Amino acid sequence: MKDMYAYYSKENIKAYGALAIYICRLESITPKILVDNGICPTCFNKENHSCLYGDSSDKMLYQDDKIECFLVGAPRAEGHVIISTIKHYKDMLEAPKDIVLYVYGFAHKAMQIIKEVYQCESVYLCTMCDGPMNHFHVQLISRYANEERGSKNFVKPRNVYICDEEKLSKLRKLFEVLI
Ligand SMILES: [Zn+2]
Repeated sequence: MKDMYAYYSKENIKAYGALAIYICRLESITPKILVDNGICPTCFNKENHSCLYGDSSDKMLYQDDKIECFLVGAPRAEGHVIISTIKHYKDMLEAPKDIVLYVYGFAHKAMQIIKEVYQCESVYLCTMCDGPMNHFHVQLISRYANEERGSKNFVKPRNVYICDEEKLSKLRKLFEVLI
């Protein structure tokens, strides 16, 4: 947007306003480009036919008017889940207390469900909405008995999502009952 200064002075922009329209192919947009330009990639994805992350409805586990909970498309572990707010909040700091409590109360239940369905040893929780723009969400990452404990679990390599129909239907049933 700084290119604008080549055509209009800062003073004129301040006095009259100016609108910049940036045109590019949807395929060339990355989350980083959006974040760097102050645009939330999660909201952008929702408003633009899931062009960024793809359709996650096949991975959806639970939805209401406050949150959505789904299996991650490129999971760091089997049973890697995201809980994201429906409304946009840049990060946890920006979200109101009732939403934060709701998300964490839900996460508590979700962790129990993940542990039961995947038979993992533990479930890690993290939220790290950083950068100039992000969308408040928490990640639940399972750790299995054969894996080492510790913070490396937060950055395990991402894998290709493979749908396990049996586990998916079990998860959905448990979420339905618990909530
Ligand atoms: Zn957003």
